[in-house]
Amino acid sequence: MAILPTVIKMDTENLINNSIFDLLGRFSHQQIVFCNDEEVGLKAIITIHNTTLGPAIGGTRMLEYRTEEDAIRDSLRLSKAMTYKSAITGVNFGGGNAIIIGDSRTQKTEVLLRRFGQFVNELNGSYITSLDIGTNPRDMEIIKMETPYVAGLPSSVGGSGDSSPFTAKSVYYGIKAGIKELFGNDSLAGRTVLVQGTGQVGEGLVALLRNENAKVYISDIVEDRMIKVANKYGAEIVQNNRIYDLDIDVYAPCALGGTLNDNTIPRLNCKIIAGSANNQLEDEGKHGKMLLERGILFAPDYLINAGGLISCYSELAGYSSSRTLELAENIYEATRSVIQRSRAENISTHLAANKIAEDRINSIKIINNFKSN
Ligand code: NAD
Repeated sequence: MAILPTVIKMDTENLINNSIFDLLGRFSHQQIVFCNDEEVGLKAIITIHNTTLGPAIGGTRMLEYRTEEDAIRDSLRLSKAMTYKSAITGVNFGGGNAIIIGDSRTQKTEVLLRRFGQFVNELNGSYITSLDIGTNPRDMEIIKMETPYVAGLPSSVGGSGDSSPFTAKSVYYGIKAGIKELFGNDSLAGRTVLVQGTGQVGEGLVALLRNENAKVYISDIVEDRMIKVANKYGAEIVQNNRIYDLDIDVYAPCALGGTLNDNTIPRLNCKIIAGSANNQLEDEGKHGKMLLERGILFAPDYLINAGGLISCYSELAGYSSSRTLELAENIYEATRSVIQRSRAENISTHLAANKIAEDRINSIKIINNFKSN
């Protein structure tokens, strides 16, 4: 279950010149925990950005980093991004992250994961871990041997399993919200949509769109997969060099990040951008503004790809998959609110989403203070 957050950029370039406390203070992080066990070879960082809305959730990323400072920087960024993702999605989680420094292919062992689980457990539920790059559902099962504060388990052991159907559904609701705001009704019949990437999420999205008689174009770098999806759902294949110039209603990036940049934005011939890929805006400030100026409606990726987070939420709450799908439907109204705020304040949708997330956190902070008094 991937709950990879969109990375909200922050200036941590000068980590070495700043104390850790300066950095934690600058972006209001609450806590950073360094986990070290030489005997099992564990070096890990757990970062808690904000727990106003609930326990901090965020994946465990196992990766080799050039320096320890790079790992800290990544953890600080990712945990902050999770705070925003949870807040805008309307779930009661805060933002956290964990990094295990190492090569997941060669250094991941049962004892290392279980020792890491013990460190997570020592935080008594203020941090809940899940999947990220370098970890998988089986790893979560192993971590669970030491702590209950874990999500993303396989469905065979009571977890929520593969999150991509929920992500496809949340993206679908993001697209419908954009269509509604632009055309006055959210029918997809006859609308033209390009799905870039026909992987787990992309294929699920193609199925949902075709089910409502949208005209669907697809592109992928893996030809076999693309042909299979085209034949199965009646979608039309588009060569990769044509995708940014295509005259369509919706461009749905479901492959990789950074596709909205100085080169592509001037070429785009679509009215709405709404897809699952993380970090679609190469530069959030600059490219969010460029899309606003070009009158192209951008549904923020970190909101509409929140299916993975929603399925973790359901898993921990013990909800059924039908309840998870209902929760994914909330993305429709949430996306409309973002678009309306962006219009009202003439700001990019990305900025509008950030403001809505901050408003929710600040308002809940008030009642939390009331509770603790
Ligand atoms: P996936 O690996 O199953 O599919 C990605 C597809 O994109 C593959 O078929 C790949 O061949 C294709 N691709 C790669 N580069 C391409 C390119 N340049 N042009 C066209 N196609 C290209 O991944 P997924 O699980 O479907 O996720 C898709 C995206 O959504 C990823 O960016 C992922 O981080 C993001 N996301 C996924 C989830 C989830 O629940 N799976 C949740 C949030 C975000």
